[in-house]
Amino acid sequence: MAQRRDAVAIAIDGPMGSGKSTVAREVARRLNFRYVDTGAMYRAVAAAALRRGLSLDDAEALAALARRVQVAPASGEEGTSRVLVDGEDLSGELRSVEVNRVVSRVARLPAVRAALGAIQRALGAPGGVVMEGRDIGSVILPDAEVKVYLTASPEARARRRQAELAAAGQVVSLEDVRRIEAEDDRAALTREAAPLRVAPGAVVIDSTHAPVGEVVERILALVRRARGL
Ligand code: C5P
Repeated sequence: MAQRRDAVAIAIDGPMGSGKSTVAREVARRLNFRYVDTGAMYRAVAAAALRRGLSLDDAEALAALARRVQVAPASGEEGTSRVLVDGEDLSGELRSVEVNRVVSRVARLPAVRAALGAIQRALGAPGGVVMEGRDIGSVILPDAEVKVYLTASPEARARRRQAELAAAGQVVSLEDVRRIEAEDDRAALTREAAPLRVAPGAVVIDSTHAPVGEVVERILALVRRARGL
């Protein structure tokens, strides 16, 4: 059996709008762990490609960008990490309409996934990390001591996503959010490389009716158990 360690790795996966980011950030804050948002890394590759006018079918050029992604520790109060590509901070562009539109095309490229996956594994190796995404418990950190698959009803997810977009200054109708959500689900579920699924050993938490604090407490309880406390 693997040795128990305090600096456990926590993998949180789930679809768009499941509440992963809010929950993952809060768990990291409570434990004083590093928070890694892997979606932001895919977004950074998309943003850098758009800036450079690269073709989204040029897998090699996009993988080259992905190899130059760096995640810097959070600077702001909310604990969002900064993502740099080639030393350029693209954090401010990650939630733009253009990036939202193209990011799933970037994320389906195996060469991009391999490049970002290597960076994510290195970030997760020392433990003391909360990493959120779509394939963290299944592919990136399959030995993570705590694995959670967060889900919620499509309605709840669309409302949350709409609020997230509004917070980023984008007013999008619920109908459009549902359409984007359905597209992202389809892309994530049918992706050949690392499709979205519940990782072996993951605990499924439905957050439709559970407030953030309750989900966070459940995850902290899983962490205590993993630490043998
Ligand atoms: O979570 P977020 O919306 O920021 O993810 C951005 C995009 O990257 C989505 O299309 C999502 O499916 C993809 N993604 C991925 N693998 C991850 C994290 C995100 O393919 N580990």
